[in-house]
Order: sequence, then C-alpha cells, then structure tokens
Amino acid sequence: MSVLVFIDSADGHVKKASLEAMTYGVKIAEQMGTVAEGVVLGSIGEDLAALGKYGIKKIHHVANESLNHLDAQVYTNVIAQVAEATGAKVIIFSNNVDGKAIAPRLSVRLKAGFVSGAVALPETTNGFIVKKNVFSGKAYANVSVSSDIKIIALNPNAYKVVAGEGTAEVIAFNATVNASKVKVTNVTKASGEVPLTEAEVVVSAGRGLKGPENWGIIEELAKTLHAATACSRPVADAHWRPHNEHVGQTGFAIAPNLYIAIGISGAIQHLAGVNRSKVIVVINKDPEAPFFKAADYGIIGDAFEVVPKLTAAIKKLKGMA
Ligand SMILES: Cc1cc2nc3c(=O)[nH]c(=O)nc-3n(C[C@H](O)[C@H](O)[C@H](O)COP(=O)(O)OP(=O)(O)OC[C@H]3O[C@@H](n4cnc5c(N)ncnc54)[C@H](O)[C@@H]3O)c2cc1C
Repeated sequence: MSVLVFIDSADGHVKKASLEAMTYGVKIAEQMGTVAEGVVLGSIGEDLAALGKYGIKKIHHVANESLNHLDAQVYTNVIAQVAEATGAKVIIFSNNVDGKAIAPRLSVRLKAGFVSGAVALPETTNGFIVKKNVFSGKAYANVSVSSDIKIIALNPNAYKVVAGEGTAEVIAFNATVNASKVKVTNVTKASGEVPLTEAEVVVSAGRGLKGPENWGIIEELAKTLHAATACSRPVADAHWRPHNEHVGQTGFAIAPNLYIAIGISGAIQHLAGVNRSKVIVVINKDPEAPFFKAADYGIIGDAFEVVPKLTAAIKKLKGMA
C-alpha cells in the first residue's frame, strides 16, 4: 500500500503544481504510516532522483516518447498499470488541465472514489474526509470517501511546497503504451512569458482600459513583477487580448498569491475564477465597483495615472529604475 503522485511536466520540466502535489502526497503518506511514490510519463529533462527532496521515495518513470504529449486515455491506461503494480491506495493529481483530464477517467477505471478541488489534507483519524472547494470557491464541502482506492485532485496553490533533503529511487517502469487515437499535428504556444495557471502573481485588466492599444502599461507592470497577464471576458471577446488570458467562470480559474485587477468591475462571473487568490488588489476609478468588496487592498483612481506610478515605485523598490 502506498500513496502515488502523478508528476506532470511541460517541456521536460516538472510543473510547480506537481511539487505541491508531491508535498501533499508525502504528508498524507505520513498520516497513513506509509510512503509516497511518484509516476512520471514521457521524456524528462531534469534529475528525477532529486525530487526525493520533496519526500518522494520512489519514482516510476515510463520514458516512452509517445507520452511526451498528453493523451488522457493513453495516460490513464499507463497510470492504472503503475497504480496496480504499486498497490496504491491513494492517488494524487494536481487539479490542473492534465489532472482534470486523467483523474476522473482513472477513478472509473480503478472504481475509486474521486474528490476534485481539494484544498487541505484529508482527515484520516476517523474515515477519510477531504475538504474541497464548491460553488466556484464560495464555499467548502467535506467529502467522506469510502472506496478502497481514493483519488484526490489538489487545487493549485492550495498547499505549500516543502523541500528538504533526500533522493528518490528512480525505477524504469515497463508499461504497455497503447497507440493514441488522436494525433497532435501542431502546437501553438501561448505568448505570455509566465504561464497564467502557474503564476504566483497575475496582473489583470478589463474594459476600463478602453482598448488594446493601452495594454502597454499592464504589460510593463506585469514584467516588473514577473507576473502573468490576464483579462476579463469582454476584453477577450472583443479580441483586445487572446482568449488564453480570459479568467472567470467561463475562462481559467486561478489562485495566485497576488491578483491585481485593473479596470475590472468585479462581476460575479469574473470573481468565480479569481476569488481563491491569496491577496487581491483592485484599481478602479469607481468607488462603488463591486470588486472592492472582494479586495484586500483597493486604490480608487484612474488606471492611466495609478498604474505607471505603481510600476515606477516597484521598479525603484527593486532597484530597476
Ligand atoms: C454566463 C456568463 C459567463 C461569464 N463569464 C465571465 C468570465 O468568465 N469572466 C469575466 O470576466 N466575465 C464573465 N462574464 C461577464 C461578466 O458578467 C461581466 O460582464 C464582465 O466581467 C465585465 O468585464 P469588465 O469588468 O472588464 O467590464 P465592465 O463591467 O465594463 O467594467 C469596467 C470597469 O472599469 C472601471 N474603469 C473604467 N475606466 C477606468 C479607468 N480609467 N481606471 C480605472 N477603472 C476604470 C469601471 O469603473 C468598471 O468598474 C460572464 C457573463 C455571463 C452572463
């Protein structure tokens, strides 16, 4: 019996969300008196043994190149083989794009209870109870899982990465890899320097910016803070910004440490995608803008005056000016 963590990667590098999933899985394993193991699929450009510093004891690596691109059906089949071979009773995913595609399929395959959007360690002293977000982060639910095998998808940024010492044993896992039923013919990467869903800081703007020609001040602030850029839906719908920046109920749901909302009214559909941010700063010229109710800090003012001053002040603070 062990805890198995799916460690996903992009361009051969382990994603930050997977470091969180590893730390989380290791803690659950401690609670259950067992160890955490990991599974990595496809080519990887970093030293997997070094992931032992997050407490993972063994890493099962299926180094088949056909696994370099996510195919949820193929991945599910391979991870199921690793889960069966290791006798995993708890399987951890990040609740990101990969996790959302694979974990539900795996739960059907293994007849496992599945909790998506977990935000805290499970209570394991009396049953197995997982706290998760519901209603777009407006409330929490405690879900009791009674199946023999349990699958949890942990919300990104919900659990802090803890690194210590140690190395993991890396085991080449010889899995049967089915041929994919779909073929990736072309990949176009999102233009932003920092991927939105992985970003610790996000600078986001809305219709208050008046037009795409004014986004220079947003990009400059984002660059200064090493942040990703995001936008409200009407901005993406009007093609002022690409759709991969759209956050909210119908866009990406994000949970950065800092979310700066500029010229965004704070409609409920927008808040649904950003209200898990740790700190929210709102810049809006209307003191009655609903977003101020969800803000930790608010600046009432014209974005075209406030944002350049804020950028200049941060540059000065960082010695960039
Ligand atoms: C089913 C459904 C799903 C939706 N999904 C989403 C979603 O996923 N994401 C999303 O964002 N929206 C979504 N919406 C739309 C949502 O309801 C709002 O219409 C939208 O979020 C408003 O975008 P906005 O705040 O950029 O624009 P506005 O509502 O026009 O607000 C602009 C804000 O900018 C301020 N402002 C203006 N000029 C300045 C200035 N110079 N300086 C500072 N502030 C200024 C104004 O005071 C105002 O508060 C959805 C709607 C529906 C019906």
